[in-house]
Amino acid sequence: MTSVFIHNFGCRVNQAEAFDWSCRLGEAGIAVARDWHQADWVVVNACALTARAEADVRQFLKRVRRESPGTRIVVTGCLADKTREELAGNSAVCRVIPNFLKENLVGELLKLTGAGDGRAEKRFFRSRALIKVQDGCDSHCTFCIIPSLRGKSRSRPLEQVVECAREAAERGYKEIVLAGIHLCAYGRDLEPEKSLLDLLRALTAIEELRLVRLSSLDPRLLPEPLLGYLAKEEKICPHFHLSLQHASEPVLRRMGRKSTPAGYLEILSFLRAGRPEAGLGADIIVGFPGEEEADFEFMRDFLKSSPLNYFHVFSYSPRAGTPAAGWKQVPENVKKKRSEELRKLSREKNLAFRAGFVGRALAGVVIKKRGSRLEVLTGNYIKVMVEDGRDLRPGQDVLVRITEAGPALSKGEVV
Ligand code: SF4
Repeated sequence: MTSVFIHNFGCRVNQAEAFDWSCRLGEAGIAVARDWHQADWVVVNACALTARAEADVRQFLKRVRRESPGTRIVVTGCLADKTREELAGNSAVCRVIPNFLKENLVGELLKLTGAGDGRAEKRFFRSRALIKVQDGCDSHCTFCIIPSLRGKSRSRPLEQVVECAREAAERGYKEIVLAGIHLCAYGRDLEPEKSLLDLLRALTAIEELRLVRLSSLDPRLLPEPLLGYLAKEEKICPHFHLSLQHASEPVLRRMGRKSTPAGYLEILSFLRAGRPEAGLGADIIVGFPGEEEADFEFMRDFLKSSPLNYFHVFSYSPRAGTPAAGWKQVPENVKKKRSEELRKLSREKNLAFRAGFVGRALAGVVIKKRGSRLEVLTGNYIKVMVEDGRDLRPGQDVLVRITEAGPALSKGEVV
């Protein structure tokens, strides 16, 4: 039986695509391997967001070539678009599938493998169902290569998403994760026009579905009705991750982002007031061209005093073809120092946030199991390690009492 391993790099949208492919490959009778050393084919869903991301993909291609020379490799995703000729010339790669052909990746694979015998049982590896509801972006942030690789913003019809979510719930998924490159722009391109709020209302009306988790939200596209809904709807996971990128207004201007720290604070405080237990996170870029020490210090102090309890810190990476790549760059050693300082601050704030839940019981989903040990993800995005997982399995609902907040993870017990 032909087996395929899907190796994912990058964003939630890539994860949602890989989740969809593994479901459909299983339905087509192709075994989806858990380890690429055992697979006949490896599909690499590649990322090109930063130089680091690109290097990780190239390293993986070399490793497969070295350790499993017989394995055939298919590359898709943003790096496939950005370096198509280079990848096509790579003898390890037998097919490059650009983003615009991604929707039909499973069809391409069935043709390539000549397989699909219908015998393989349907295996779903993830504990939560990831659903891609939107792709592409109409914004033009000066540091971002994504619009040129994923194209204009496109939304999946609302009815189709609801049907997909209902199917996931019928298969036992308690939580769905909505993924989009620019999720808040959902529905703007649909006829008649819809909104993310319309979609959330339709999804939370599905009785069998317990939780809807959102991927990254753009603070520039959070109108009051949507914000009000997020701050009170219990079926929306109390976890909000915002793409702030920076807090200094001069830097935000150069990024091409019309946002203000005051506006951020209003949104964060409103969400914190409506959902006191919510996990609040953000994407942050340090070392953007023109970022002075004063800009950095302003952002550091803003993040420190804000209701955020964690932030993903990206060191600015010039992307060829974006306006900012041609501007005077911040020295690498300065970027490194600033990134480390903010990552340390994020760890401190996250530890303080998680310590506030010691002794409390939180609802969550089992996301991993090794032996009797479980990893549980709570609604407010706390990862909890449980020693005695009883006979619980990935995807199952569980109530955990937090017993300890460690430097990286929290510890807990099943209630
Ligand atoms: S909103 Fe900006 S950062 Fe996000 S994908 Fe679009 S251009 Fe890139």
